[in-house]
Amino acid sequence: MTRDEIRELASFQADESKRQSALSFYFQPAPPQDRSHRHEAIAAKDVVKQALKSAGAQGKNGHLHADLDRVLDLATNLRGASRGRAVFACSAQNFWKEYELPPRLGETHIYLQSQFQLKPLAALLGAQPALCVAVVDRQRARVFDLRLDDLRERGAIVHMLSRNASSYGYNGYEAGHAERRVAEEALQHFKSVAERLRTDFERGIWERLIVGCQDANWPEFEANLHPYVKQRLIGRFSADVASVSNEEIRDHAAPVLDRWITERGTKKVDDALDLARSNTRGVAGLRRVLQALETGEVQTIFLNEKFSARAVQCPHCGHLDAHLIAACVACGRATRELADASDAIIPIAIRRDIELFYLKDHEGLDRAGNIAALLRFRSDQTTGQIPVAS
Ligand SMILES: [Zn+2]
Repeated sequence: MTRDEIRELASFQADESKRQSALSFYFQPAPPQDRSHRHEAIAAKDVVKQALKSAGAQGKNGHLHADLDRVLDLATNLRGASRGRAVFACSAQNFWKEYELPPRLGETHIYLQSQFQLKPLAALLGAQPALCVAVVDRQRARVFDLRLDDLRERGAIVHMLSRNASSYGYNGYEAGHAERRVAEEALQHFKSVAERLRTDFERGIWERLIVGCQDANWPEFEANLHPYVKQRLIGRFSADVASVSNEEIRDHAAPVLDRWITERGTKKVDDALDLARSNTRGVAGLRRVLQALETGEVQTIFLNEKFSARAVQCPHCGHLDAHLIAACVACGRATRELADASDAIIPIAIRRDIELFYLKDHEGLDRAGNIAALLRFRSDQTTGQIPVAS
């Protein structure tokens, strides 16, 4: 799943005047020990059937029925699935997208709204960087892109080493010479892999790096990484290029990435809350975060997982307000109430590339109303924009 695809989902709007609905379906598989049961597939079918019933009761149009029937087919075949699944559909606009996702979606659920429901997806994506995983040994390297659980090989580099000296039965001098030659070849290989990582980074192909290699090779390879590639390195795991499977690469990289995201989110939210207290580049609480979103100041948003708050949105100008006012303060038109403010916040964050962190039980964030933001600048305090280092 690419950022462009997510942005497309965040921009989608069903035409309510034509009674259209944007359908979002999330399937959460059962834990492995329960997978032999048909429970999760049956539960998924029930969720869809229930939606079909209520759509019928509300007199929704035929397009929605077609979408629901198609999702029902899909749900019926999910028995024993180990991966999560998301479907976004609106056949009235010829829209159908289906994704396999990591099985961390919370629960199986279907949403019928004017926009796609992206909260489970946003919670999963969190602040996922464009991640490169490089698996390296002295003569081979394989370079992968990892987006969510989707691991794709972007290229391989191979410089087969000369046969080592012992296989020729050389005498001492020649054996030493051959060994030095092999060491030199390995060094050149490491250098060219490091160079490839640097140029790919400069071309914007990746933002963060995880390296898989044997412990014995790591010091030499690390020494050849360009300083700003090294700054982007978030961790390493031990692996053998010749035998490691894609599945294993994904399994090794996932915890390294999760740990990094959690540490980074916790540190950044602490910063944001400090900055909110000193009234500088942080804000806390829904009202202040919504204001900052409208003035374009927000760089990063932090949500506690349990965040939920009502708000209103103006369908005409898009103004968001934490006060449940009937008329928009910006344009005077009638507002629409949102059961959950994050339904409006998340698509905005995705469209504008605002980093989004979901945190589990962060006490400081809890006290601040479960939502806070880090700002690029303060429009009420500065004449120009002061960039903030990430
Ligand atoms: Zn308005």
